[in-house]
Amino acid sequence: MSNRPFKLYDTLSRTVKPIETVTPGVLKFYSCGPTVYSFAHIGNFRTFLCADLVVRTATALGWQVMYVSNITDVGHLTQDDVADAAGEDKMEKALKSKEGANFQNVWDLARYYGDAFEEDWARLYLNEPTVRPRATEHMREQIIAVQDLIEKGHAYVTDTGVYFRLSSFPEHGKLSGNRDKDQLQVAVRDVVVDDNKEHPGDFALWKKDDKHLMQWFSPWGWGFPGWHIECSAMAMKYLGSTIDLHAGGEDLVFPHHESEIAQSECLTGKAFSNHWMHVRFLLVNGEKMSKSKGNYYTVRDLIEGRGADPTALRYSLIAVPYGKPLNFTLQGLDDAKKNVDRIQECRRLVEETEYPSGEDHVSEELERIYDECLGAMCEDLNTSVALAKALEGTAVLFRKSAEMTAEDASAGKAFLDKIDALLGIAPKLQKEEGGSVEAELQADIELRIQLKKDKKFAEADEIRLKWEAKGYELRDTPTGTVWRKQ
Ligand code: AMP
Ligand code: ZN
Repeated sequence: MSNRPFKLYDTLSRTVKPIETVTPGVLKFYSCGPTVYSFAHIGNFRTFLCADLVVRTATALGWQVMYVSNITDVGHLTQDDVADAAGEDKMEKALKSKEGANFQNVWDLARYYGDAFEEDWARLYLNEPTVRPRATEHMREQIIAVQDLIEKGHAYVTDTGVYFRLSSFPEHGKLSGNRDKDQLQVAVRDVVVDDNKEHPGDFALWKKDDKHLMQWFSPWGWGFPGWHIECSAMAMKYLGSTIDLHAGGEDLVFPHHESEIAQSECLTGKAFSNHWMHVRFLLVNGEKMSKSKGNYYTVRDLIEGRGADPTALRYSLIAVPYGKPLNFTLQGLDDAKKNVDRIQECRRLVEETEYPSGEDHVSEELERIYDECLGAMCEDLNTSVALAKALEGTAVLFRKSAEMTAEDASAGKAFLDKIDALLGIAPKLQKEEGGSVEAELQADIELRIQLKKDKKFAEADEIRLKWEAKGYELRDTPTGTVWRKQ
């Protein structure tokens, strides 16, 4: 394990500081996942890619990573940024839309977009989390957490639901700096207007509603959980009371993460997360990319609709360090494609020719460059420097192409493998496989396409996972499914 510190900006202490794990060499990391009422857009993926880079950097340092990233498959309210959360439930609204006609019910819709999300995740070469919990599968844990908060005096019941008692947690506001309780009602996502609440800013832990399409039975009758409780419950279930790092996009600082802190710390009496990371927004023409503004691209818009190369898309989304806004343009995607092509050309240079054995001209330089690349990632995920280092390594190899030895080629391959493990931008070349494996894989790909048409997603997923276990990644493209050896 490397002793190199891994520094990240921490929203809570407002400083760039090394991640200090509770157990040395073991990173317990929770990153908030998407709400699955439609396809995730590439802005969402900017955030997930940054979390992926944290995992890859920690792994490169030799740490063991326990990485939990959830799927929010319970509907929350559409007017969630105004005080009177009287808007429709996002899932229910999606079901009534044109696309919604393809689904039997909200459960079907959530399952479909959840699966589509996992597919997009694989297409952009994000590593699988250790656990990907779905909120609907953790209702028991959420209800128990709410009950426990009531018993500890941090929550109370009214006719409309169960609310967190802000006055019981004076530290509320420590993450966002938003301590003006009187302003909370206008600012808080998920705050419900109810005259019987003790304070207008008290946020919902449970909403009573026997008309809601997704509802569960609880000690407070039929209803559904508030938005924030799922992440507290699932983070603590899989990672314990205190985690090392928690991440999300910049809009989650308040109220989502502030509320998670309040709930979790009142439940355990311990610090919830020792480090908080927030990713700045992906912009389009200087504006936030968002579903409600309609100014967004999904991963499939770009890959299937415009034939974008998934590795180039990944490259373009990580090209700017996470602490700065990234303005997405199709020109940026084209530039990324040139860099990715150059890296692939370098792979071919070192992998497709047999070179004579001889002097090693490059390994020392490549090792230094890789070390600087990892060093840049450890300095608050400086991806622009890290990507420049990857290209610098390819330039070293191209310069030696006329006098390349077997030793140089093997050092070059090792360099590209390490760069791919760290940044995910140097995939292995697709090689022809022996006939029988390929035939079996092809037959399974066709079967999987049929299963997906029949909406048998679980079985289709099993096929994907079966091949993943054998080291093959299946990816869906406009022309069909392609595979990639991992
Ligand atoms: P949601 O599905 O809205 O819960 O969002 C999933 C994740 O994407 C959250 O961490 C959000 O903060 C993040 N996110 C949403 N929009 C953007 C954007 N334009 N750029 C970067 N991250 C975003
Ligand atoms: Zn969350």
